[in-house]
Amino acid sequence: MMHRSAREPAHSGRPAAPTRDTEPYPRRARRRRVVALAGALVLAAGTALAAGLGPVGAAAQPAHPGGDARPAAAGGAKVPFTEFEAEDADTNGTVIGPDRTYTTLPSEASGRRAVTLSAGQYVQFTLTAPANAMTVRYSIPDSADGSGQNAPIEVDAGGTTVGNLTLTSKYSWFYGSYPFTNNPGDGNPHHFYDDARMMFDHTLEAGSTVRLTAPDSGSYTIDLADFEQVGEPIAAPSGALDVTDYGADPTGKADSTAAIQQAVDDGAAQGKPVYIPKGTFTVTDHVVVDNVTVAGAGPWYSVLTAPDSLTTGVGLYGKDAGAGGSHDVTLKDFAIIGGITGRDDNAQVNAIGGALSDSTVDDVWMQHTKVGAWLDGPMDNLTIANSRILDMTADGVNFHKGVTNSTVTNTYLRNTGDDGLAEWSDTTKNANDSFTNNTVAVPVLANNIALYGGTDMTVTGNLLSDTVTNGGGLHVGNRYPGVNAGSGTAVAGTFTLSGNTLVRCGNSDYNWHFGVGAVWFDALNGDISGATIEVSDTEIDDSSYEAIQFIEGSISGVRFSNVAVDGTGTFVLQIQTTGAASFDHVTATGVGYSNPIYSCQGDAGFQITQGDGNSGWYTDTPYCGDWPSPAS
Ligand code: CA
Repeated sequence: MMHRSAREPAHSGRPAAPTRDTEPYPRRARRRRVVALAGALVLAAGTALAAGLGPVGAAAQPAHPGGDARPAAAGGAKVPFTEFEAEDADTNGTVIGPDRTYTTLPSEASGRRAVTLSAGQYVQFTLTAPANAMTVRYSIPDSADGSGQNAPIEVDAGGTTVGNLTLTSKYSWFYGSYPFTNNPGDGNPHHFYDDARMMFDHTLEAGSTVRLTAPDSGSYTIDLADFEQVGEPIAAPSGALDVTDYGADPTGKADSTAAIQQAVDDGAAQGKPVYIPKGTFTVTDHVVVDNVTVAGAGPWYSVLTAPDSLTTGVGLYGKDAGAGGSHDVTLKDFAIIGGITGRDDNAQVNAIGGALSDSTVDDVWMQHTKVGAWLDGPMDNLTIANSRILDMTADGVNFHKGVTNSTVTNTYLRNTGDDGLAEWSDTTKNANDSFTNNTVAVPVLANNIALYGGTDMTVTGNLLSDTVTNGGGLHVGNRYPGVNAGSGTAVAGTFTLSGNTLVRCGNSDYNWHFGVGAVWFDALNGDISGATIEVSDTEIDDSSYEAIQFIEGSISGVRFSNVAVDGTGTFVLQIQTTGAASFDHVTATGVGYSNPIYSCQGDAGFQITQGDGNSGWYTDTPYCGDWPSPAS
């Protein structure tokens, strides 16, 4: 979430083959269940307690031996790549982690583990399917002045060098207090990782090895690599207007903003699609789209990019909702890879923005912008599908202020700088939106998925993993400015949260100094009551602290059914507010603390209604006292 007041800090295909290329490393004997991950794979909250972000050190928790379980089969996006964790690959480097202590390198790694390579060391992946393209999540050190530096890493396939992949720290390493700086002197370093991609000049068959070897100096931390088979460039749609015919420069040297805008305007006027061919096109401002299709040759071929900056944006934007917004827009098969090097909450530097009604975003790769897609309503009926959102400085997607009947589906998000997927009603009700079958991995601040107010929301089939700080995997709240009963934007109707898998979600909050739940509810701006919130068919694995949390205000109407909690750092239930909830077939194993429930509310303060089939979590004498450290 962006645009928050000072007192609301920080927060704000083809199915993939199995994700491991090696044997799973031994999991802890106690409680951690290895869930196998079926698809490709799989993220702001300290609330009102502090006026700003405090020092982080005090909130650091002990090393948490998580990271030994990958979610198995449980929802998430079907993606065109196979993901390999570096820590499970062949290496002569140093495996780091597991550790969930904020501001440590492993705490921001997928699975909370990675591999650090020094001079000449390697990590080697063995492909399980043919691939001609690779995306690597990595961290290299920042430059002394905080502006970042580039460093190449050698890539060999089957023993033959296929090139160097240029890694950089320009888009990572933030410091100080929210919304953060690029000045190392401000302390509190975090947001360590970035992604780089390359295509090979030929297809590597299954069984091929791909080796990344560190140069003679420097330190290179590799978290994971995604391998995929990219098809031939997609041809122009019939009758399309080609942006290069308008003077757009596929070498990226000249500024193509005006040329692409003219092509888009002509396409809208003539009822013709607009084609972005293979090439890299520099765009330095919004291209405004309305009643038009913009199609590329595929996200590995057609790239819109921008110079490195805090405030120069490349983005495709609908018209302002206040001017009627845009309608009937299709954006597909290209990449928007910006150059945003920090977070300026007053800058409109998102890959996709404005108001887009009756519109579709399909197979768009968004990277290095502030937010992937920040939509400002009122607007209706937008679908974002089959896309990839990587390395944002703020949210992945935010449906803001009167966004209705809109969806994010089958989309993969990783390394967002704030909430992965969010809807924020603010002063105008969002209604009937959904987040379905997405994977949201490693949001470095806040939540994997957050619902701030609204009516009739659906969150189903998502795979959520590795919340880093000040948030949980799945959050419902009457929070953030505007969201309250008085404006009609509070949580209302039916919220369906079903079929989601949460792995290593929730973490400490550096304002609160206690854990945030993997699934959590917060009624800061007004009671959550009168709505029905169904949490069903949900798996909550290896939570950093408590699995489920209720905090602030009064919260009722939450019904849990068929929920399996497997491993917590502390409690199953952490109750810090009045209210009521029902539980049916809710089971818990591997509870971290000796008492499964934290509550100082008393039986009358928070009413627990038990149905059938519950086990492992209930007590009529909950714990009330100092916060325990997570079990290790
Ligand atoms: Ca990893």
